[in-house]
Amino acid sequence: MTPEQQAIRQAAKEFVAKKIIPHAAEYDKSGEFHAYLLEAAKPSGIFAMAVPQEYGGLGYGPLTQALVLEEWGYGCAAMGTTLSASILSMEAVLTAGNDDQKRRFCKPMLSAGIGAFALTEPAAGSDAGAGVATAVKSGGEYILNGPKCWITNGGEAAVYVVFAATDPAQGAKGLSAFIVERGLPGFIMGDREEKLGLRSSNTVFFFLKDVRVPVANLLGKEGEGMKIAMETLDLARPSIGALAVGLAQRCLDECVKHLRKRYPAKSYPGETLQFDLADMQIAIEGARQAQHHTMSLREAGKPFSMESAIAKTLGTAVAMSVTSQAMRLMGSHAYTSEFGKFMRDAKVMQIYEGTNQIQRLVIARSVLAPPKAPAPTMKAAAE
Ligand SMILES: Cc1cc2nc3c(=O)[nH]c(=O)nc-3n(C[C@H](O)[C@H](O)[C@H](O)COP(=O)(O)OP(=O)(O)OC[C@H]3O[C@@H](n4cnc5c(N)ncnc54)[C@H](O)[C@@H]3O)c2cc1C
Repeated sequence: MTPEQQAIRQAAKEFVAKKIIPHAAEYDKSGEFHAYLLEAAKPSGIFAMAVPQEYGGLGYGPLTQALVLEEWGYGCAAMGTTLSASILSMEAVLTAGNDDQKRRFCKPMLSAGIGAFALTEPAAGSDAGAGVATAVKSGGEYILNGPKCWITNGGEAAVYVVFAATDPAQGAKGLSAFIVERGLPGFIMGDREEKLGLRSSNTVFFFLKDVRVPVANLLGKEGEGMKIAMETLDLARPSIGALAVGLAQRCLDECVKHLRKRYPAKSYPGETLQFDLADMQIAIEGARQAQHHTMSLREAGKPFSMESAIAKTLGTAVAMSVTSQAMRLMGSHAYTSEFGKFMRDAKVMQIYEGTNQIQRLVIARSVLAPPKAPAPTMKAAAE
């Protein structure tokens, strides 16, 4: 880490200790959206950490963002998800948008507004091309119709990236992506989901009924929606790995705190227990390195699609296993609603932003890809 990254991480740690950890359990219990957080984060501009400096944001690189997200995951995965899902939506615009679109989309983030990425539909989860939402061009507008479900930040966002078919007969190849500003007529908001975990992260169903957006809000070209969605998810998946690593580290730290209290005289009883704790830390550190590696590849402009899928799969698997191990080591003391939050929050990370089975398909595609031809030697090139 550079000195600047160390300072950013330290600032994130302090923010999390003061503004996130003290409120996490209360919001988990109520399931209400943690709206106070947007206000609390405003002075730091952290909701604009991924907004490039030319658009007025902090312009943090991928690795620096991951450091911040790990700290937020350490504090509360639900609150971290609000930030990461907002970045996910922004990545779609930064990947495929033109200058005007980037400027318009990024603007709310500069005052701690949030974005939402709306791909999933009741009949289209892993198979994102199976959706029924449509976008029909009419003069200078597209008219959007159809359902979207399980949308993080959906009820709270200032701006959305919505995927809908401009050519339904083409399936995935007929999907397009649109910027949709909040408050348009015909945007019918459903109730928030009462979830098992990430309870204070806002997740909603909404329906688009003849929602009109200007043609200028089409991202890229018609039919490029699936490509934009997949490229965006590639960029964003290591962030889920970062949140998961933060969650796992916090769970282990809390577990150790409990064990120290419970066994004060001997401090750490039994070699087996020590080995268990060591194995948990080994797994966390491995997952942390996997997502740092992915972010470094991305910063270096190298391919990182497989590594991105690995960072997400590994991080979330480690979070799930560490939370389960901690419960075993602590027994009934961990079987509370408050401690159980770690496990409840970890579980969903294996599902959203592409399930871990879908990540395995991505990884397998790379593993099974025909070997690349070796670069020609000087002698062969000369011949
Ligand atoms: C809390 C939460 C927040 C979310 N936030 C968002 C959001 O902001 N935006 C958004 O667009 N979506 C969001 N989602 C939706 C999420 O991305 C989908 O739930 C996910 O893609 C899986 O789709 P599904 O739930 O329909 O499961 P399905 O696709 O029905 O899958 C069910 C099971 O079948 C497996 N499976 C499916 N296809 C295959 C295959 N080809 N090979 C092997 N196994 C397969 C899956 O891995 C899974 O285990 C969110 C979901 C949750 C729970």
